Amino acid sequence: MKVMKFGGSSLADAGRIAAVAEIVRAEAAAGSVVVVLSAMKGITDTLLAAADLAENADPEFRLLYERVMDTHEKAIKTLFAAELPVSEDVSEDYSQAGQLIGKLTALHHELGDILHGIELVRECSPRSRDLIAGFGERMSCTLMSAYLCFLGEDAVMVDARRVIVTEAEHGSATVLLEKSFERARALIHHEQELPIVTGFIAATEDGVTTTLGRNGSDYTASLLGAGLHADVIEIWTDVDGVLSADPRHVKDAFVIPTITVEEAMELAYFGAEVLHPYTMLPAVERRVPIRIKNTLNPHAPGTLISHDGRGEDRGIDTITGIASIGDVALINVEGGGMVGVPGIASRVFSALASASVNIIMISQASSEHSICVVCRRHDAQPAMKALERELAHELESRRIGQLELIHNLEIVAVIGACMRGTPGIAGKIFSALGEAQVNILAIAQGSSEMNISFVVEMAARKQVLNVVHSAFFTHSTQEPVQGAPATEVKG
Ligand code: ASP
Ligand code: MG
Repeated sequence: MKVMKFGGSSLADAGRIAAVAEIVRAEAAAGSVVVVLSAMKGITDTLLAAADLAENADPEFRLLYERVMDTHEKAIKTLFAAELPVSEDVSEDYSQAGQLIGKLTALHHELGDILHGIELVRECSPRSRDLIAGFGERMSCTLMSAYLCFLGEDAVMVDARRVIVTEAEHGSATVLLEKSFERARALIHHEQELPIVTGFIAATEDGVTTTLGRNGSDYTASLLGAGLHADVIEIWTDVDGVLSADPRHVKDAFVIPTITVEEAMELAYFGAEVLHPYTMLPAVERRVPIRIKNTLNPHAPGTLISHDGRGEDRGIDTITGIASIGDVALINVEGGGMVGVPGIASRVFSALASASVNIIMISQASSEHSICVVCRRHDAQPAMKALERELAHELESRRIGQLELIHNLEIVAVIGACMRGTPGIAGKIFSALGEAQVNILAIAQGSSEMNISFVVEMAARKQVLNVVHSAFFTHSTQEPVQGAPATEVKG
């Protein structure tokens, strides 16, 4: 059995929806399939923007509200063109398209009532926001299930609020795993039917609508795959898979055929277009493999995120991929008085934590002369303030010489499970960079040995990525990449 999840960009318009329907039909003919859908492209954002406007009693919310319905109606009119009556008054008609528009109109009215209520009370609680945000998936699944029935499939829409159970939290609720798995097995295991499940939404035990956080449909797919013991979870998007580097900067970037879960998590952390690590957990725990596929290029094999220790089809002496995070800042805490004094690192990190600064990378020279942390630009000032406050005494007594802040930097992370225990990888990276005259400001290697990260000037990004990439990969051996580069559009 297969779980197939399609994101918003795969559901952008009638043409894309029809393509998804074809992919699903081909799979359903071959075996048992459960489909999970996001909202149509841009709909969740539009719904949330409408909620914000309604809360401020800004009548503009009605425009967005209409846009949601228009987007769906337009898709229906194209998809069911042959079915639509000549007159415009489709609601009177009993054709499939007419019934579908009737169902969507009912959802649209419900949404309108809720938004109007919010406009009147001028307050949109997190609970109401979740309810509103979830309309996109309810609409896309209503549409897709009707369209598949129209094409002769035995499709049924499954509202995930009957399946995924969460705590009573809003925005990004904690899932009650065992309960959800149980319900999934009870609700979704009819061999004959083709379930079309709403991603992203869930409910509390009392039936209050919750959501799993932005891009939560991937998580829904992972949960269902785990609960139903699927053979594979396919995440359909608009890129060919996980890439060895960002193709906007590295022309020779290629699709990585197999990647381990840990590598996928590391790459995702450093901004590569992979699933959010949290999303993968249910599938990982039950050892259900995940495959990333491209709706624009369905025959491409994509990337398999597997549970085996190594990507067997790669050489042992190489890396898996390179990712990078731009516009970061480096803060260097430096001074001779820190050497051998316990507690400085702990104070540095506590101060940063209490200022809510997210640290992306840490490195300490073994001379203990300096500790350096890297964070995003917007965290840099709060971080400096917090450190100045915390270390005022040491700065005053010159135990710490200075706090240095450098902007416009890039963290580059070279990732690969095969680096573990393989000597020479770091050597290869840094000699290639040395030959290219690249200045490196800081280096860190996790003790997992799966990741070597270093900091360079942002201006050198393209050069650095290419130098490292070509130190490990030769171009001609790889398939060219299809699809848009790393730009997932939310549903
Ligand atoms: N439609 C939701 C969002 O845009 C969930 C998803 O796309 O996975 O966040
Ligand atoms: Mg998405």
